[in-house]
This record gives sequence, C-alpha cells and structure tokens, in this order.
Amino acid sequence: MLAHEGIKFESWIFSLAMLLVSPWAVGAAKVPQAKDPQKAPRLTEIPIKQVVIDDKFWSPRQEVNRTKTLDHVYQELEATGSIRNFDVAAKKVAGKFSQPWWADSDVYKWIEGASYVLATHPDAALEQRVNDLIARISAAQEQDGYIDTHVQIEEPDLRWKDLAFFHELFCAGSLFEAAVAHYQATGQRSLLDVASKLADYSDSTFGPGKMDGISGHEEVELALVRLYRATGERRYLQLAQYFLNGRGQKPSVFEGEYNRLPADRMVNWLGGERISVRFLHDHFFRAHPPAFDTSYSQDNLPVREQSVAVGHAVRAMYLYSGMADVAYETGDRGLMKALYRLYDNVTLRRMYVTGGIGPSAKNEGFTDDYDLPNDNAYQETCASAGMVLWNHRMFKLTADGRYIDSLEQSLYNAVLAGVSLEGNTFCYATPLACDRDFKRQPWFEVPCCPTTAARFFPSIGRYIYAQSEDGLWVNLYIGGQASVTLEDGSKLTVRQVTNYPWEGKINLQVTPEKPEEFTLRVRVPGWAAWPTITLNGEGISPSVSKGYVQIHRQWSGGDVVGLSFPLEIERLEANPKVLQARGQVALRRGPLIYCLEQIDQTAELDRIVLPTTATLTEHFEPQLLGGVTVITGQARMRDASSSRDQYLYRPLQPTHTETVAIKAIPYCVWGNRGHQGMRVWIDCTGP
Ligand SMILES: [Zn+2]
Repeated sequence: MLAHEGIKFESWIFSLAMLLVSPWAVGAAKVPQAKDPQKAPRLTEIPIKQVVIDDKFWSPRQEVNRTKTLDHVYQELEATGSIRNFDVAAKKVAGKFSQPWWADSDVYKWIEGASYVLATHPDAALEQRVNDLIARISAAQEQDGYIDTHVQIEEPDLRWKDLAFFHELFCAGSLFEAAVAHYQATGQRSLLDVASKLADYSDSTFGPGKMDGISGHEEVELALVRLYRATGERRYLQLAQYFLNGRGQKPSVFEGEYNRLPADRMVNWLGGERISVRFLHDHFFRAHPPAFDTSYSQDNLPVREQSVAVGHAVRAMYLYSGMADVAYETGDRGLMKALYRLYDNVTLRRMYVTGGIGPSAKNEGFTDDYDLPNDNAYQETCASAGMVLWNHRMFKLTADGRYIDSLEQSLYNAVLAGVSLEGNTFCYATPLACDRDFKRQPWFEVPCCPTTAARFFPSIGRYIYAQSEDGLWVNLYIGGQASVTLEDGSKLTVRQVTNYPWEGKINLQVTPEKPEEFTLRVRVPGWAAWPTITLNGEGISPSVSKGYVQIHRQWSGGDVVGLSFPLEIERLEANPKVLQARGQVALRRGPLIYCLEQIDQTAELDRIVLPTTATLTEHFEPQLLGGVTVITGQARMRDASSSRDQYLYRPLQPTHTETVAIKAIPYCVWGNRGHQGMRVWIDCTGP
C-alpha cells in the first residue's frame, strides 16, 4: 500500500490550481506540464462487464441506444449493402461492392457496440444477430487471413497498394476492436480468431525487412495494442510501434505508394462514380504541387516530433490514442512528450467550448490556432468521441484529473449532441450555431457517425472508474455500481447515487467483502468550487493530488463518502484571438454548456444581447427534453424597432434598454424540437 502522496490545499489554493490546470481555463497563459508519467500509478480500467449504470441522466440515453440506435444502424447496414459485401466477398452471392471503401469498419463498429450491450444486458436475439454476422464475416476471410471486402470484390490486384485511402488497415483495426469487445463480453473466440488471423497476416506483411506501410486513416495502431492485451501476443504491440514509427518519414511512405500506383487506373468511388486511383492523393496530398504534403494524415512529421494537431481530426484522435497506448505499454518518453505538446495545442488553441474539435469541412479537421467558427463548425461526432478515447488514455498514462475534465467536457457536450433523444438521427457535422436548415439525419452516405454512436454510448461504463495498485478511482459521477477486484484478489463493490449533472451531490457507498485498507480517489472537476466532503456523515478534509481528493483508510462494509459542490451558472469568454466568439459569452453549469434555441425565445436569436450584469437563474423542467435544468434571465433586444433588412452599415445606434426573457437549454439536447435556430455564443454587452 502506498501512503498519501498529496499535499493538503486550502480550498482557494485548490480552486486556483484547478483553474490553472483545467482545459476549461481557455487561454491560461501557462499550463503546467504533467509530472513524469512513469512515476504515476499504473491505472487500469474496470471492465465494462463489471460496471452497471443506473443513472437518471445516462440510463435513458443508453436504453435508447440499446433499443433503437443499435437496431436502426443494423437495418441501415443491411439496407445499404454494407453487410452484404461480406457475402459477395465470400462468393455466396453475386454483386458489386456497396458503400464507401471503408464500409467494413461500420459493420465491425456495430458488432463492437452490440458486444458492449451484451456485456451488461444478456439478449439472446441480439447475440444471435451478432453470431450470424460473425459467420458471414468469417466466410469472407481469405485463406491467408486477408479480409477487406472492398478490395476483395473490386480491386483485388490493389491489395495493400493504396494504404493512404483504401482504408484496409483502418478496417482491420475496427475488426480487432470489435473482436476484443465480443470476446470479452461473451467469452467466444469466433471473431477473435478472424481478427488474429488478419493480424498475423498483417504482421507477416509489414515491418522491417518486409513491406513498408502505414495506414492513411489511423486506428490499427490502438487496435493492435488492444488485441495484444487480449491475446498476450507481443508481435501485435511491436506492429503497432512499427506503424507509429513509419509515420512522418521523408519521403513519405504515401509518396512512394503514389508513385507506384498506375496513373491511369480508374476505380469505383461513391455512388458508382469512376475516379483515378490517385484522385484522393492528388486532392489531399498534392494540393500545392510539387509539394507532397501528407499532414492530412498526420504524416507531416515523425510522431515524436509532432506538436501541432493537423489534418483530419478523427485520424488525429486515433493516432494520439495509439501513441498513448504504446507509451502506456512501453514507457516511451518521446511519445509521451509529444502527446503533452499535442494536448496543449488542442485544448488551448484548437478546441470548441463543447470539447469538440475540427472546425473545417474541407479536411474534416484542424485549421489554424483559434480558428473556431460556430455556424459552420464541422465538429464531427467521431472526432468528439475520439477526444474521449484519447483523454481516457492520457489519464491512464498520468493519473491526472485534467484529462478527465477534458473527457467530461467532450462527453457531456459535443459527443452527446451527436445523437437525437430518439436515438435514430445523428449529427455528422455538429455546429455551435445554426439557422433553420440544420437537422440531424438518420443516415449518411459516409455513415461513420451513426456507427460511432452505436458503439460509443454502450461503452461509457469504462470511463467512470479506474483502479491502481493502491486503490480505486472515481472519475465520473454516473449512478450505478461497479464490482472491483483489488490487488490482493479481494472483492469490492462501489455504489454511486447522484443526480448529476443537474445537482452536485454524490454519494459513494464502498463495500469491500472484508475490511480493507486502500485509497479511494474521487475527482473534483476543474470547473468546480471546493466541495463539501463527508465520510459516514462527518465532514473531512482529505488531501488532494492532480484533481483527486484522496481518502486512505481501512474501509469496511457500508462506508459512505459524500461529495457536494455547488453548480453555479457561469459566463465563459473565449480568448480574444477567437474572433468568432469575441464580445460573446457561453453559459456553463457544471459540465454542461448551454445554448439558446429559437423555440424558447420571444426575440430572434441575433437580436438577443446579454448584459454582463443580468441575473441568471436555473430551474428543472421535468417535461422538457426528457427533463433538463434550464437557465433563464432577462436580456436586451438589439434593434427592436427597425428592420435589419434596411441597411448593411449605419451609424452606431444607442444601446436598447428594452428587455426580453431568455431561456437556455443544455447544448447536448438541442435540435430535438424541429428545425430552428440555435446559438451557443451569445452577444454580450456591459451593464
Ligand atoms: Zn464520423
């Protein structure tokens, strides 16, 4: 057992420290680097199977995902031919390849999501559907282990020849993840065997002395580490390292590939269109010839030299997650240092207040520092979910609560906004301001975001707790319970009761099977004031380290820790370098960012100006949007008396004194009441 390592902070010092280290403190002049992660406790997840969610906020969303989203996505995958592709590749039926080149990944992602559901909700019909699907996938696998239905059906002679855009290794990674999830949920090896066979074949193909290759869309790196952890096969970890090390070489692996591809070769693209096999290379890598710029795929620099988040945002998130996974397994300090730089770059310069990333539709990704437009924000749902994946790994590397702050920010805002309350329509791009044209869609020509939703939401149990050699960590406030096996093999149950994020009270009941000495660490979010903390009803002042209160004692059955922190309504301002948010405020309460939706306002959205002195209050509306806490207050109305259509420019008019009531709802539930305008950033004025 380790003794306390934290230092006791007075509450104001703690609050100041949290402000400095939190990504919420946008624009903080200097963010301390995390301490040497090698000295951090080694953190492991509590398996999803051992975490039951019973929570007023999350249970309904998970239930909708289980009962509606999963089936909706499956039906679309069948209807659009993504599943049938496996039958065609297996030569069971005749036909052409359907859907985007990476359609296999969407099928694998569905299996991964279904497996998480099966881990906690036994469901014979769902299990049968999964097993049937796995049989169809298995039948499509070649003798040597290769499987990628696009290449098998349409371009078999181009196997591994267009790694930049054919997505074979991306699909392979999605298969590895699904296989591990399925194996861990059911104990069945059916898909794991398919995955291992492909991983073995990939390992025999790529590496020193073999073929040069990296994936244009990262994913295989993190997935190989996951497969390594599930199987113990170290070659998979080494292959992940190889793929990381191959990125950013000069000349790029992709440039060599481009030069080898036949310039006149045409291939099938979306909707049956024929394009040159070099088309996407030309579009993304050769926009400014003769330069061959592969930053779109984060191939601009060797991974250990990267400091700036560039290119396609989902790819970046998967790359950084893979780097963190390899660093976790190997202690690679070069990777860790790069990850700290990239984290600072993203969270201090390139992230929305919602925790989403990637403002531009052009590259589905990053642009320049502080370029964060609202009404055409891309903020892809997959990228927001990628922020959760990456920050979870950063937490596991460092034991630092700042990364869970970031995780929570993305989870409760950008990710959750990606799916409707009904669970059958989705955002691909997720703006922070919109007019009446925007609405979520049931499906997309490129359906990565619906399949991301299907696999992500059943997995959130993994983020709530963690454990280390010396105890248990509580990261998120989500009701339910977890069964934990301690280092000495003894068992422990922790039960959490809370009405978070609407209220700031959390009760944790800790029940070891026998009295047990260990440290319970509970995260205090970076945005929170110092909480009241009780142990069995008595106030305590535990030590604090890296965003966690630490309670070390001998625990016995029925011990209860209580936390209570006020959830204040806060006005946030952006760094003035964010031009698109200058002179505006965003409202936050707890982890939730709020927005104005037109339906709740009597004034048009672009006439609302919120005085800095306006009193804002909150109340819970049980009938609204499944039950949400709303923020209300009095704003002023700009230009109430004349039509805005009468001028483009004019002399500055006096500030209006007419007031108008406003009502703000959580951003995560916007867009569930028909087409209408929405704003996260609200024009602000002085008293
Ligand atoms: Zn997506």
